[in-house]
Amino acid sequence: MSRIDCPMEHAVLEHATELDPALRQHVATCETCGQALETNEWMKRLAATTAPADFPDPARIWLKATLLRARTTADEVARPIDLVQKVSYASVVAAWAATAVWQFPHLLSWIDRVRSQALVVGSTPVIHFSPNLFWIFSGLTLVTIALSVHAVLQED
Ligand SMILES: [Zn+2]
Repeated sequence: MSRIDCPMEHAVLEHATELDPALRQHVATCETCGQALETNEWMKRLAATTAPADFPDPARIWLKATLLRARTTADEVARPIDLVQKVSYASVVAAWAATAVWQFPHLLSWIDRVRSQALVVGSTPVIHFSPNLFWIFSGLTLVTIALSVHAVLQED
């Protein structure tokens, strides 16, 4: 959009309420000053109108816009973090499932041993865990607890 300035525009707007004959003649022939005068009158009519009573407070609109923009920015920043969390949750579930399948025979024999020893009244079952299974279960349990604590803290 180009703007054509007229050297008389300022004088026309300054004396818009009472144009002398020379300015009135200029406004009749100058498109720029004619549009400036028309816009000036429209702006004065707009300024004279009062806002409806139920029109929202501009500060409230500004605050809402600021909050919306901040939330949008926070969502954009959190998107990669959310992706990493989902991948880590899926990885832990997959690790538990793989461990259960991989160690299924050992788990069954361990459950049988615990059950058979528990049947003996008054005896305390002795738990024999293979070292590998112990470390795998311990590691997965720690990771699961860490992810759970992180998920709970994130909701607050
Ligand atoms: Zn002009």
